[in-house]
Formats: sequence, structure tokens, C-alpha cells
Amino acid sequence: MDLSILNDNQLKAVKHIKGPLSVVAGAGSGKTRTLTYRIGYLINQGVNPLSILAVTFTNKAAREMRERVVELVGPKALDVTLSTFHSFCARFLRSEIEYLGQTYNRRFLIIDEDDSKQIIRDTVKELNYDPNRYNSNRLKSLFSKYKNGQYDELETIEQEIYLKYNDYLAYNNSLDFDDLINYTIKILKENPSVLAYYNQYYEYLLIDEFQDTNSVQYDLIKLLSNKEKNVFIVGDPDQSIYAFRGANYENHERFVREFKAEVVILDQNYRSTKNILDAANQLIGHNKNRQGEKNLRSSFDEGPKVIYEQRDSDKDEAYYVARAIEIIHQGHTPYQNIAVLYRSNALSRIFEEAFLRYNIPYTVYGGISFFQRKEIKDMLSYVRVCLFPQDNISLKRIINVPRRKIGQTTITKIETYATIHKISMWDAIDQMDIKGTTKQNLLDFKEIIIKMQNEIARLDDLIYVVDLVLAISGYKQMLNDEGNEGKDRYENILELKSVFYNGAIDYKGTNLEKIEQILDDMALKTDQDIVEDKDTVKLATIHQVKGLEFDCVFVVALEEGIFPSETAFNSGEIDEERRICYVATTRAKKRLLLSCSRQRFRFGQLQMNAPSRFIEEMNLEDDRIQKRKQVIVKEVAPSDFMTSSDDIKIGDKVTHEKYGFGTVVQKDDNVTRVAFSIHHGIKLFTNGHPALKKV
Ligand code: ATP
Ligand code: MG
Repeated sequence: MDLSILNDNQLKAVKHIKGPLSVVAGAGSGKTRTLTYRIGYLINQGVNPLSILAVTFTNKAAREMRERVVELVGPKALDVTLSTFHSFCARFLRSEIEYLGQTYNRRFLIIDEDDSKQIIRDTVKELNYDPNRYNSNRLKSLFSKYKNGQYDELETIEQEIYLKYNDYLAYNNSLDFDDLINYTIKILKENPSVLAYYNQYYEYLLIDEFQDTNSVQYDLIKLLSNKEKNVFIVGDPDQSIYAFRGANYENHERFVREFKAEVVILDQNYRSTKNILDAANQLIGHNKNRQGEKNLRSSFDEGPKVIYEQRDSDKDEAYYVARAIEIIHQGHTPYQNIAVLYRSNALSRIFEEAFLRYNIPYTVYGGISFFQRKEIKDMLSYVRVCLFPQDNISLKRIINVPRRKIGQTTITKIETYATIHKISMWDAIDQMDIKGTTKQNLLDFKEIIIKMQNEIARLDDLIYVVDLVLAISGYKQMLNDEGNEGKDRYENILELKSVFYNGAIDYKGTNLEKIEQILDDMALKTDQDIVEDKDTVKLATIHQVKGLEFDCVFVVALEEGIFPSETAFNSGEIDEERRICYVATTRAKKRLLLSCSRQRFRFGQLQMNAPSRFIEEMNLEDDRIQKRKQVIVKEVAPSDFMTSSDDIKIGDKVTHEKYGFGTVVQKDDNVTRVAFSIHHGIKLFTNGHPALKKV
């Protein structure tokens, strides 16, 4: 193992064998590498690999780290326990779960998020509570927070459901993700002999990405450490971006305090060029209350300038990024070394479209592509059934979404009948002899579709297709009832509005003819999405690329209201947003390109957002960067909007539920422009928009 490639501080950390150590270091300063080398070093010093436990944030990171350590010291490294918190706990419970009592045994089942929600749904049903009020998505996230100690108390009925849900899991010998950690802690706390055994077994603990541990995980680390406290943590408080999941960057200070840990600081960056690092340093310098403040030094020369580009529309921005990628790719950067990073998943669509158009291979990271999302597929299935009621696959998909008391048995029956009589399921519904309420439910469903068909035929503007389907199907109500997660899905669906908006412009013919083309278009996109290709551009949210690096990084949609996100400036969480942006910029090795757009179709509405404050804060040498106060408003052709009249005039003060007070700055036959506070910028509304109230 060649230690000469480490710098002095890295070496100091690697050679630290006994006692607690905290490595606090900026992005790309070799924290993960130091941790990896320390594992190798311990093994070379004769430490038994079995006694080493290293925890990483993802399974992929664990796999990669194992490969690296094997490279360093050979196959004995395979005996190191290298896993995530969850996989470590699962493994622990496979041998110790019987300490919980008779109900559980080693063959327990780990249930995923969906199973978990299904069980909650069934429980609510069994207890005869209103499934809308006690919605499984809301309850799942509530229960999870409760289990993780992020939530103190449940109300009586929630508590009842919670207990029954847990009973069900226990009865069925199954655990959800939260149980994995909690039961591990419970067993360790309540059984001194087990604790003693593990404390003796694992002599060395190493934790990567420590800044994103939550308090339950912290407790686990504390329990697992024995009196020698050979605990080695690495992390960067400036990259703590999981507060919403209960991560607590103060755990760092807590660790140093409670473990009386030595601290090593790494401030030499080995990832990014000087220009990139300068921008990142400038940016994070704006955070108040930073811990372990450090200014990273680059190991490289200036490199290309950080590029900033503001475009007129979101589509323009996406095409600009696509063209830039083509140029960079022609300059011999493989696609896989390029990443396009955004603040939230819903922003991926417009880039996917541009990349498809440009034939740029891409992969949407860590998630399903926009077009494969359930809510998007459901919406498109509705539209398809309106156009082609004989499409059985689409019909089956939505016949009971939202729930209409049309059960699986009924659906199977219809399908069988349809197959035997060689007719569509749609037609089979009329002909079949089905009894009572089920028949009525089926006819009600058909009526919904027929109503949609009529309304769609009458529409002036296709942008309203999505609204119409959402409302008539009851889908909107269903999402409303789902709380936060429903809101995300709703936002994704609103993104679909832009697809219809653009389709209406791109295609000619009657509404139905246009929709047909739009659907074909999207069906093709879904097909292409399935193709797995390794050399692809990565499209990802910033949270999904933590710890990773790319030659070239685009950070897109850098606009006030998007990044930092709207919710953040209402709740004063700008520092967290800035950390997210810091993580984004520090993924780049050679090139960093920032972009935003003057106007953006978002959530079914045309928005005008000011460039993100983060761009200004990076202090780039670029005279095109406008100070936030001088947002230039561009004309938009509003002819495609449906309009209605109201008595709001230029100069009037208005209020909007989300944006607060604003002033009408412009109004024409179709569109009202309202200037809200500087964070929100200028927004466009169709005249008579119900969200605007005159004051
Ligand atoms: P992050 O904060 O993003 O997790 P990190 O601090 O874990 O980053 P690493 O990923 O370990 O940083 O290292 C960043 C890059 O720098 C990697 O490509 C790594 O191989 C390289 N590197 C680390 N230390 C050195 C060194 N002493 N000499 C040369 N290259 C190094
Ligand atoms: Mg790392």
C-alpha cells in the first residue's frame, strides 16, 4: 500500500489507530479516500479485518469502497463489514432478532415502502376509519418520523393505527426500514450480553458522510463503540443536506464533545480546478454559523472559467445545455463524465426532451424517468382511454385509480369475458351480466370517461387537458388527500401540462389529432428510456450525487423560487439550500456550467424568476450576471391562454396565497403580470386567474 500519495493531514488521519477521530474536511479533499486508506492501513498493521465496521451512505458507495480496499490490501479486506446503516442492521437482526421476543424469528421479511403503505391502508380499512383522513402516505411518513424520534406524539386514532400496523408486522414476522435501526438499538440497549459481544467484536468503527446522520444513527454509533472508542468519522458540515430526514449536522460537534475526539482538518482539494473551487468557496462563505470553517485550496490550475448562462425560456435553457454537452462530448469528454444537476425531480422533464431530440444518451439517476412515473402514466392512460376506449392496458391501469370499488376479481372477470368474446374490456362492461353495485360502479366509470371525451373535444386549448382529467377522474382529490407526497406527484403532473402546451403549438389538426401525436411522441420516449446504456449523461437531483464527481457538471434552473426553493425562503432554510448548491458545484472536476431561464413553465403556470442569489454569491467574473434587483422582463406571446375578464388594473395591489402581496405591472387582453417580492419575481397569470385577489 503506497501511502506516499497522501498529504500530511490525510496521512495523520490514516495512521491514527486508537481513540476517536473526527476528520472535518471540505468537498473533494479526500475524506472518502482517507477513510478507505485507513481501513487498509489498519489491516496492514495487523488489525483483524473482521473487527472493522465501516458505514457508508449508499450501498453503491459501500461496494466501491470494498473494491478499493481489496485493491489496497488484497482479499482479506473482504472480511471487513462494509455497509450502510440499514444493511448493517439487517445483518445484525438476522442473528439477534429473537431477543425481541417470540413473534420474530431470523427469517423475517423486510418490507418496502409500498408494502408498508398497503398494510397501513388495510389497517385503516379494518378499523373502519376514513381512508382519506387517515391516508396511508401521510401515515407512513408520520410513523417513520415517530419511529425515528423526530415526532413526539401521535393523536389517539393515529396511535391506534400505528400499534395495529406494528402488530401486523410482528405477527407476520416483518420489519419496515425504520424498524431495522430501531430494533437493533432496542436489542443492544436491553441485552447487555449482546452489547458486550458486539463491543468486543467490532473494535474499529468508521463512518463516511457523518454530516448526514440522524440522531437514531448517532445513538447506534455510540452504542456500538466500546470503551476504547476507536471511532473514525469523516464529514463536511457544509455538505449536510438531509435535514428534512432528520439529519443533524450538529452531530459533528456532539461527537467531538461526547467522544472527546481529536480533530483533523483537510483543506487541500484534489477534485476541482481553482476556478470551480473559488466559486464554491465564495458561495458557502455566505452561510452563517458554519462549523469548522475552512477554505479549500485547489491542487490544480485555474482551468476553464465557470460559465453562466441565462436563457429566455426553460426550453431554451435545456437546448443550450444539450448543445453544450454535444460540444464538450466532441472534445473527448465521454457522456458518462457529464452530469446535469437540478434541485428537484420535476425539473428533469424538459432536459429529457431536449436530450432525446439531440440524441444524447442519458440516465435519470436514482429514480424513474419522468415518463415512467406512476402519476404521469396514469394521466396519459386516462387520455388514451378517452381517445381509444379499446385500449385494455390503459383501461386496466386507471379503472380503479382513484379507487372506485372495482376490485381485482371484477377486472379479471371482465378481461376473461372480453378475451372469450373477442371484444374490448370497454365493450364487455356493457354486455356482461354483473350484479348490483359493481355494475353501477363500472357504468359510473364509463360515464367519467365519456364526460372527459366530450369536454376534451370542446377545449379551446390543449393545455387544459391535464386539468380536465385531474378534475373529472377524481385524481386531483386523491392527491390532495395524500399530503406532501401527493403534492410532489401533483407537481409532476402539472409538468405534463407543458407537454400539451408545446404539443398544441408543434402539431396541426383537431384536438384529438394533436393529442394522438403527443401521445405517440411520449410513448416513444418511454421506449427509449428503457434502453440501458452505460455511457450516458447523468440527470440527477443534487441529493442523488452526494460523494460523486464528474468532469463536467451543469447546475440548471438556478432561479429564485426553484433554487433556493420557495419553501426555503419562507421558512428561513436558505443555508441548507446553499449547502445543497455547494454540494452541486463541488461535484465538478474540470468544468462547471450554471444556467437559468427568464421564464419557465412550471406547475402549469408561466413564471418569471430572478436568477438565483447563489450565482451572484459565487462572485464570478462575468459581467452578464445581473444583480437580482434588475430583473428584465421579457415579452411573452400569451395568445395560447384561455382568458376571462376581471377588474384588476395596472397598478393594483393584489395578493396571492403563495407569493404574498404584489403589484400588477402589466396587463393585456390575456395576461396579467404581477411583481411580487424580489424572491418571487414577476409572475404571469391568465386574466381572471382565481389565485389573484385584489386588495
Ligand atoms: P466529498 O466531500 O465530495 O465526499 P471527499 O472529501 O470524500 O469528497 P474524495 O472523493 O475522497 O473526497 O476525493 C476527491 C478526489 O480527490 C478523488 O478523485 C480522489 O481520488 C482524489 N484525491 C484524494 N486525495 C488525494 C491525494 N492525496 N492526491 C491525489 N488525489 C487525491
Ligand atoms: Mg466522500
